[in-house]
Amino acid sequence: MVPGVRGMLRAAMLTGPEIRARVQEGLENGRLWRLTHDRARLLGTTEGGPRCHVCSEQISRGQAFGLTRSSAVVLVHLECYMFWLHASGLLEREPITCAGCRRLIPPHAETMAVRGAVYHGRCRDRMAVRAEPMSPIA
Ligand SMILES: [Zn+2]
Ligand SMILES: [Zn+2]
Repeated sequence: MVPGVRGMLRAAMLTGPEIRARVQEGLENGRLWRLTHDRARLLGTTEGGPRCHVCSEQISRGQAFGLTRSSAVVLVHLECYMFWLHASGLLEREPITCAGCRRLIPPHAETMAVRGAVYHGRCRDRMAVRAEPMSPIA
């Protein structure tokens, strides 16, 4: 294995079903609004690990998407934004996220399904050689 791969596999984000639940919860309690023509913009690097407005998890550097709401900018993960779009009826198919890295899987990407969980092909390959893929990093 290549050194450094472990860090990339560390899952900071929630799983797809967990994100879906947060979006539903947010729409019900009013923390989230129904998206219409709101457009998220990739903000790139962010300092200080801001929290995602949907899932409340930290957003790693370079992954923050900004939604302008009135004059404020709301920061979200791309994955959370996609689930939010879907819940708002603006995205026909529910997004699919990888059970390994938790990142979005593009519609035509190579995937591997293992016991109902969907992985990127390469994530599955990596996890197959590791005994405890989700063990915390000491
Ligand atoms: Zn999020
Ligand atoms: Zn993956």
